[in-house]
Amino acid sequence: MSIIKIHDKEFVPYLSAESIRNRVNELADAINNDFSGKRPLFIAILNGSFMFAADLFRCLTIESELCFIKLASYRGMKSSGKVVTSIGLEEDIFGKDIVIVEDIVDTGKTLHHFLPKLLHQQPRSLKIATLLHKPEATQFPLTLDYIGFSIPNKFVVGYGLDYDGLGRNLKEIYQLK
Ligand code: 5GP
Ligand code: MG
Repeated sequence: MSIIKIHDKEFVPYLSAESIRNRVNELADAINNDFSGKRPLFIAILNGSFMFAADLFRCLTIESELCFIKLASYRGMKSSGKVVTSIGLEEDIFGKDIVIVEDIVDTGKTLHHFLPKLLHQQPRSLKIATLLHKPEATQFPLTLDYIGFSIPNKFVVGYGLDYDGLGRNLKEIYQLK
């Protein structure tokens, strides 16, 4: 792995494909344990979480369901402040055990706006799994149940995360230089 350029910015290697794979396995083990005998519905938030969701789901041994919704508050490298729902939730989540799957929790705004809408539908339980968390960026505190990596407040790309549309295909995670 070496320095890469996406659009106008340079990025340095930060998390290797192997360390991501190992950590995703550990999160899946914890979820397999915690939800044994249950049938959770995983709600993955597009676009960024598609790769994490696929790898995590592949490691599950419990009965489980998966669906995707699209929420976005980001334009380029800064949060636009608004949370837009562009693909809504079609599933009935009443009485279900829900696990939200996020690529990264930054300010917490996206989930802070979305969780009340979910809770309103009275799921039996609601947990959050996020691959990455930037604790220093928190503006809207959330209880995160499964965290892959806590990282500094620097912009990252790869493994599903983009910079202005590019970089999602990278197997590793890179940090802004
Ligand atoms: P929040 O609402 O917590 O501020 O931001 C959540 C969303 O912003 C994430 O799901 C992700 O799509 C995007 N985001 C936050 N930080 C980063 C980052 O460092 N890199 C990329 N590519 N997206 C980010
Ligand atoms: Mg996201």
